[in-house]
Amino acid sequence: MEIHVELKTKSKMFCACKNGLGLETEPNVNICPVCTAQPGTLPVPNTQAIEFVQLAGLALNCQLRLDSKFDRKNYFYPDIPKGYQISQYDQPFCEAGHLDVLGKKIGVTRIHLEEDTGKLVHPKGVNYSLVDFNRAGVPLMELVTEPDIETAEEARVFCQKLQQICRYLKISDADMEKGHMRCEVNLSLYKKGEEKLSGTKVEVKNINSFKFVEKAIAYEIERQTEVLEKGEKIVQETRGWDANRNATVSQRKKESAHDYRYFPEPDIPPFEFTPEYATELKRKLPELPDQKVKRFKEEYGLADDTILVLTTDPALADYFENVVNEIKEKIACKEFSVSLEKALALSANYIVGELRKHLMTSGEGIESLKITPENYAELIAIVGEGKISSSSAQIVLKVMYETGGDPSQIIEAKNLIQMSDAGELEKIVDEVLAKNEKSVADYKAGKENALKFLVGQVMAVSKGKANPQVAEELLRKKL
Ligand code: ZN
Ligand code: MN
Repeated sequence: MEIHVELKTKSKMFCACKNGLGLETEPNVNICPVCTAQPGTLPVPNTQAIEFVQLAGLALNCQLRLDSKFDRKNYFYPDIPKGYQISQYDQPFCEAGHLDVLGKKIGVTRIHLEEDTGKLVHPKGVNYSLVDFNRAGVPLMELVTEPDIETAEEARVFCQKLQQICRYLKISDADMEKGHMRCEVNLSLYKKGEEKLSGTKVEVKNINSFKFVEKAIAYEIERQTEVLEKGEKIVQETRGWDANRNATVSQRKKESAHDYRYFPEPDIPPFEFTPEYATELKRKLPELPDQKVKRFKEEYGLADDTILVLTTDPALADYFENVVNEIKEKIACKEFSVSLEKALALSANYIVGELRKHLMTSGEGIESLKITPENYAELIAIVGEGKISSSSAQIVLKVMYETGGDPSQIIEAKNLIQMSDAGELEKIVDEVLAKNEKSVADYKAGKENALKFLVGQVMAVSKGKANPQVAEELLRKKL
């Protein structure tokens, strides 16, 4: 895999222009003489971008090179104003790392830093193209893996874990759909017993989702197997993923390897880092996804699936932990009477289920959530203590999500306090029994399901406010 990630630094890689991350509404607004390659301009490297790449290197178990430099990669294309890209050739910032994927070590050959290109725009109905340089010079991290990946699933999980690490490190949102993260696959097959890289390599580009990474690889394995089984040769070429046709299509055949005439960038002196600098940087590393998963298992004893969802986004995991702290405090001072174990499970389940559903529907991030951890914890205690039913809890959570309101006030305003008081419930139970003679007869004939139906009726008549356990007890008694 070859993966490019746009870094979310404040400014561009070699000038003071704002790094707009593609959010610009007009072309050519975040540009200057440097990133449009006016004669006489000089690049000044962005320290934050270098640190971001080195942090990624540390998170992926790489060696940080103490001697590093930038090089010029020469090629002509209208979106690259200088006629070369400042990149790194033989002394990248990070080397020789690895990432654990599905219980297997996938080697990371190198991670280097370069600048992104501009974008060509092809307006319809005219015979010219336009260039937008907003993206030109945005810091771009490039990661290359060792040829250790053997299945489509391993490739997908590798990309997903890399995205997650970028988000944990806050170096990029690594959104594939937005082009922040671009994955290229290099795939070759070989016969059992033959040498590992003896096959012809095919490159697949234009993959803009994790699902397509997996699909494109599965497709190529099948296509190349068919070609080889017919006794034909694989053509060395670049192919693109066509999501409409669910297939890879040939884009260009490789006549010969590109000659980029790499040479050291003369306008940027080489770097020398001290071992102390590397040690200092290591201290800046946050808790990483694998470590968080392990700790959540030990500390909270939640189900594996729940932990995986909670730790996908570090902000979601932080939110959960803020709620947990709140609950612990309130239990300690006897404000909540729910057990910690129950509250932990409820908190996690409502976050992974209901809350995430609201976030996904509205397209908002957890960062802009209106529900404070205090209010969320209070709702969990109210549910855990059986004061409202789970269907009422969903209603309350929805209002809290929309308004950021206080759960007790919402419950009072909507009159949702659960009816656990037998006297009040009894009237409803009698009414339901009188109206459903057939179910009563069925139950008496031994059909246990009829009771479930009757409980459902009580819930409906009480508009979800009945405590289902109490309702069932009352029904059994009366039947
Ligand atoms: Zn600029
Ligand atoms: Mn590159």
